[in-house]
Amino acid sequence: MMSSQAQKGLVFKEEEIFGRGSQGRTGYSLPAFGCPTMDPRKLLSDDSLRIELEGFPRLSEPEVIRHYTRISQWNFSVDTNFYPLGSCTMKYNPKVNEAIARFTGFTNLHPLASDDHAQGTLGLIYDLGLWLCEITGLAAATLQPAAGAHGELTGLMMIRAALQMRGNARSTVLLPDSSHGTNPASVIFCGYKPKTLTSNENGMINLNELEEVMDDSVAALMITNPNTLGIFESKMLQIAKLVHDRGGFVYCDGANLSALIGKTKFGDMGIDVAHLNLHKTFSTPHGGGGPGAGPVVVTEDLEPFLPVPVVIKENTSYIRDFARPKSIGRVHSFNGNVGVLIRAASYILTMGAEGLVEATEAAVINANYIRARLIDHYFMPYKGETLHELVISDKWQNEYSVTTFDIAKALIDRGFHPPTIYFPLIAKGALMIEPTETESKETIDEFCDAMIEIAELAKSNPEKLLKSPLNTVRSRLDEAAAARNPNLRCDFCG
Ligand SMILES: *Cc1c(COP(=O)(O)O)cnc(C)c1O
Repeated sequence: MMSSQAQKGLVFKEEEIFGRGSQGRTGYSLPAFGCPTMDPRKLLSDDSLRIELEGFPRLSEPEVIRHYTRISQWNFSVDTNFYPLGSCTMKYNPKVNEAIARFTGFTNLHPLASDDHAQGTLGLIYDLGLWLCEITGLAAATLQPAAGAHGELTGLMMIRAALQMRGNARSTVLLPDSSHGTNPASVIFCGYKPKTLTSNENGMINLNELEEVMDDSVAALMITNPNTLGIFESKMLQIAKLVHDRGGFVYCDGANLSALIGKTKFGDMGIDVAHLNLHKTFSTPHGGGGPGAGPVVVTEDLEPFLPVPVVIKENTSYIRDFARPKSIGRVHSFNGNVGVLIRAASYILTMGAEGLVEATEAAVINANYIRARLIDHYFMPYKGETLHELVISDKWQNEYSVTTFDIAKALIDRGFHPPTIYFPLIAKGALMIEPTETESKETIDEFCDAMIEIAELAKSNPEKLLKSPLNTVRSRLDEAAAARNPNLRCDFCG
């Protein structure tokens, strides 16, 4: 049954494409060929020929285009509206960086091209490495890792190699309980045991506890700064000294660098290794599993362990150096996800040093503005000022049986993507909001108005929140059943 009527205004229902079309319909028509044709069955063996699929839909071009375009309109993206996922930096990425990444000089380069045929791309990799070192205050970089988690593993492997050379790789890595889930996973992947540190009432590392557990079994402390609560670890120098004095390394998860660029540097905080997520802070759109890049920056001491190849400059040429005996080896094919590196280089160049500092300031001001507008309406488990993101909770709304989940769904009805929910785990019923620097005051005010309206509705008419979302193609789903028993075939639109 055709069901092309609107579901809500101009949001269209859309059924499975297999239910559409009719025999003989075709997607294109061309004039008769002016050259002789041959029956493909005479040219190709049977196993190379496409088998006619039973029930394969026969559709016109506009039917195909409308089908996919309508489905795409059910998606929400940062090009649609505000997308304040905390610990994700869902910022708007300027289209100019996309255009530059598509320059044919970059896109047509064969991955096996020799160094002298790849000077432009190698030069870009070299320069971007220098810029990331300047931004982080560290000495050397690899741009190969394909994601934040991959960067974590690469950094930890370098720490392991360095400790191994000293004679003992040690066994444990310390992590705060607010850390991103990829941190303990990378620790285990690298053959270490994760040991959790309990955050203090300000959401920071407890120095006394660190003092107690930091011994010669500990390879590294893996920290996030600003941490996953959006709070700056102000005791960073003491923390680093403690770890270094007892022979460990300090790893910093720099996935979200929006709060620091141009303000402070990892190198000045006693950090030995860090990864950055170019697909968060440096203008590659993320989410949906597209390619990313998680460059790793290190101190001079760790530089010999960088993965191969390292791009170096000799006179005026860029070459890939493989002759690095202490290297941990390759972590990615070819040169990493180069398209992401090009976007980052383009972003840094178009922003300029001053622009990057302004972006940092705007990201922090935006988060603190939201904090100020919501502080009388939502419980905030950590009292200190925040950097680029903030954590609030549903504690006050729980009195009316309204939960974080209901708040998130109610935001959808008001046109906003919900923030990160129920994370970090140490804040019960958390909503973690990261506005980023790219949002205007008007957008942020609309979001805050919606949040305040929801908080008020929770008091006056909580029932109204329990059925949201109502303005979407599908309303509240049984999410547990959907995750355990996914039905990817469409009875979705029936
Ligand atoms: C996103 C994120 C990661 C993981 O990055 P991926 O690219 O998804 O692997 C790690 N740590 C923090 C703090 C993050 O926000």
